[in-house]
Amino acid sequence: MTNPATSSPPAGGLSSPPAGGPSSPRRRHPPRRVEVVSVSRLAPRLVSVWVGGDALEGFRIEAPTSHIKVFLPAPGEAAPSLPEFGPSGPAWDEDAPRPVLRTYTPRRFDEASRTLEVQFILHGVGPASEWAERATVGDQLAIGGPGGRFSLDRAAERWWIAGDESAIPAIGTLLEALPATAAAEVHIEVAGPDDEIGLPGPPRTAITWHHRRAPDAWGAELDEAARNAPIADGTRIWVACEAAAMRGIRRHFTSGRGLPASSLVTRGYWRLGAANHPDHDYGEEPV
Ligand SMILES: Cc1cc2nc3c(=O)[nH]c(=O)nc-3n(C[C@H](O)[C@H](O)[C@H](O)COP(=O)(O)OP(=O)(O)OC[C@H]3O[C@@H](n4cnc5c(N)ncnc54)[C@H](O)[C@@H]3O)c2cc1C
Repeated sequence: MTNPATSSPPAGGLSSPPAGGPSSPRRRHPPRRVEVVSVSRLAPRLVSVWVGGDALEGFRIEAPTSHIKVFLPAPGEAAPSLPEFGPSGPAWDEDAPRPVLRTYTPRRFDEASRTLEVQFILHGVGPASEWAERATVGDQLAIGGPGGRFSLDRAAERWWIAGDESAIPAIGTLLEALPATAAAEVHIEVAGPDDEIGLPGPPRTAITWHHRRAPDAWGAELDEAARNAPIADGTRIWVACEAAAMRGIRRHFTSGRGLPASSLVTRGYWRLGAANHPDHDYGEEPV
């Protein structure tokens, strides 16, 4: 069985299909070595980590809710080992311990200072969460990407957006990117009041923070919010949370209410009991 913490990434560390089709594969940028330049707590369980370095030259966030791969040092290592990139793709040194790879949202990038913000939820046991809990200035890591398949429909006037803690950074990028005239109803499920933070958005943004009804009731509040949501024609729906909860919400909107799949973007950002959940869990398989 593949060890998800050490499985080799494709070049650039992202698994989305190339944009140019089979005849023109998009060249992916190799992972970029960076180091932590600042760490702060946005909430007791949400850590903002800014990373920087010359390798971020040319980095660009193409669309809201994009993702990056974070390469963290293997246990006992000071920096992640990275593959060499040759004409036939990435080649790993068989003797070097493989880095830990996880998927995160590039929250914002400052081109002038070549610094990138990543916001980590401290959810408990997991190498990335544990790394973020003790992250300190000077720590070495690498960033692959960004990638993702989301493109913002700027003509959409109404949005219904839902997510759990892991989606707070992505929701931030989406709200920031919406046209000023858009109306957004946003539902975010967190453990409790301490987890609520300020978020940007157009003037007609209404954010409801839901407190998890039981510690393991992942997504139950979001599911109920979906069932109670008045969804006007033309509303765009964006949902990202635990994978099974996402599927329940998606089923409600498609099978339950008959909304067209084209009006929905759904993402499983993590799966209960699974390490390193893939970055392309869209919940689109037939039910
Ligand atoms: C496109 C995309 C963007 C993402 N952006 C962000 C982001 O910006 N910030 C962020 O914090 N997360 C984000 N995530 C989620 C993040 O990738 C996962 O939470 C990841 O599993 C964390 O890695 P880990 O090493 O801490 O835990 P893992 O080793 O992957 O998992 C260990 C255990 O922890 C559980 N677990 C994992 N995540 C959570 C969670 N959030 N809450 C409760 N239990 C959990 C797993 O079920 C597993 O049992 C994103 C995911 C995707 C797919």
